[in-house]
Amino acid sequence: MQLHDPYDNNNIFAQILRGESPSTRVYEDDMTLAFMDIMPVTPGHVLVIPKSPATNLLYLDPEYARAMITTTQIVGRAVQKAIEAPGFAIVQLNAAAAGQTVFHIHTHIIPRFHGLELQIHSRVRADNDELESIARKIRAQL
Ligand code: AMP
Repeated sequence: MQLHDPYDNNNIFAQILRGESPSTRVYEDDMTLAFMDIMPVTPGHVLVIPKSPATNLLYLDPEYARAMITTTQIVGRAVQKAIEAPGFAIVQLNAAAAGQTVFHIHTHIIPRFHGLELQIHSRVRADNDELESIARKIRAQL
């Protein structure tokens, strides 16, 4: 691991945090933001990010790590209710070798169902209206 975080301020999640790129937001507080994944593995796939520039978990301030987990609990509960999913997976990838593709730390909240194989990524871009309609259901459960 490098001593200094090689964080790139132009990554897509940094742009979303600055409001320069669009996102379908479901929850926000002083330290975190949660929004719909544009290529959901299952409907209700949400990402939680800290409002702190960290490439991955190894570089994240522990206070922001705590906030990210707290928001993951809050939003995970709402996702589970909104999607009527019996469970959800938390996935958090660190470095390209682990499959990380966006280099601003995030947790994935992925609704889970009995018998459904766990997939971490999808290549199918969701329709914006569909994302907004699911986001509305999640917000209603917060
Ligand atoms: P990871 O591979 O863990 O870094 O996950 C990155 C996730 O970000 C993937 O699931 C992508 O579908 C998702 N993603 C990429 N760009 C955007 C975006 N502009 N808005 C929402 N989700 C995105």
